[in-house]
Amino acid sequence: MPEEALIVVDMQRDFMPGGALPVPDGDRIIPRVNEYIRRFREKGALIVATRDWHPDNHISFRELGGPWPRHCVQNTPGAEFVVELPADAVIISKATEPDKEAYSGFEGTNLAGILKEKGVRRVYICGVATEYCVKATALDAVKHGFEVYLLKDAVKGIKPGDEEMAIREMEEAGVKILPSL
Ligand SMILES: [Zn+2]
Repeated sequence: MPEEALIVVDMQRDFMPGGALPVPDGDRIIPRVNEYIRRFREKGALIVATRDWHPDNHISFRELGGPWPRHCVQNTPGAEFVVELPADAVIISKATEPDKEAYSGFEGTNLAGILKEKGVRRVYICGVATEYCVKATALDAVKHGFEVYLLKDAVKGIKPGDEEMAIREMEEAGVKILPSL
C-alpha cells in the first residue's frame, strides 16, 4: 500500500501561457512536475491529478457572472493535461456541475476517500495556481488529517505577492514547505 501520494493540481492547457486563463510562466514548471511524477511513481507512490472540468455553462465564467473567462470546458483541448501521467494515475475532476465552483481537489469529489482507502498518509502537492487551487487543495488535505508537503519548485502562482502570502498561509496551517525534493 502506498503511504505517499503526489497530487498534481490542474496542469491543464488553459492554465498555461496561450491558454484561456494563463498562469504566467506556468509552463516553466512542466519539466519539474514531470520529474516528480516519474520519481514518485518509481518509489511506488500514488499519482493523483486534479483537473478543472467545467460544463459549458459554468457559474465561474464571466458570461454567467463569474470572475473568470471560459476555461477548461469538459472534453475540449483547453482542459487537456500538459504533463505526462502514468496510465494508473487517479484523475479527479472538479467543478463539474454548472452551479458549483471548486478550487480544492477535495471539494465535491471522492479524493479523501480514495487516498484513505489506499492507505495514503502523506501527500505532496505541486501544480497551479499556487494562491487558488494549490492552496485550497493543500489546506483541505490538512483538514482531512494528511501530512502535507508543498513542492515549492513545482508550483506557480498568478501574482508573486499573492503567491508568497498563500505559501505563508499554508505554512501556518501546518503544510511543510519544501524548497525542492
Ligand atoms: Zn475553473
